[in-house]
Amino acid sequence: MAYAYDDQNIFAKILRGEIPNNTVKETDHTLAFKDIHPQAPDHVLVIPKGSYVTADDFALSASDAEIIDFWRVFGEICTKLGVSPDNGNGYRIISNAGEDGVQEVPHFHMHILAGRPLGRMLQPA
Ligand code: AMP
Repeated sequence: MAYAYDDQNIFAKILRGEIPNNTVKETDHTLAFKDIHPQAPDHVLVIPKGSYVTADDFALSASDAEIIDFWRVFGEICTKLGVSPDNGNGYRIISNAGEDGVQEVPHFHMHILAGRPLGRMLQPA
């Protein structure tokens, strides 16, 4: 079953240019911008321009071109931030989905967090 997409979500409004954003990189299929409430010195959100609700929706329904572009942009952001463990101190990627994932914005997005030690992966429930 296809996900129902709410085109009034805040990232849809950003993509339509109705709300400003602090763009880090933009391509035909993907937008990367700074999170408005950063949880680390570097906190960038990477989103597809297409209407996908979650990571699994994107993985199952997006075109090959969209998926490749998304991951290339992710890699380029890591290079730009200088956070790759190859030459930096590393990073964490997170994509919250649904109720248990505590997803606030129902447009698929991946958080890139970096710039300080990030602690263990999860807080105790
Ligand atoms: P979540 O859906 O739980 O993964 O979190 C949504 C993220 O979007 C949060 O980290 C918010 O700070 C961020 N966010 C919400 N509105 C904006 C905005 N207008 N510009 C940039 N980031 C935003």
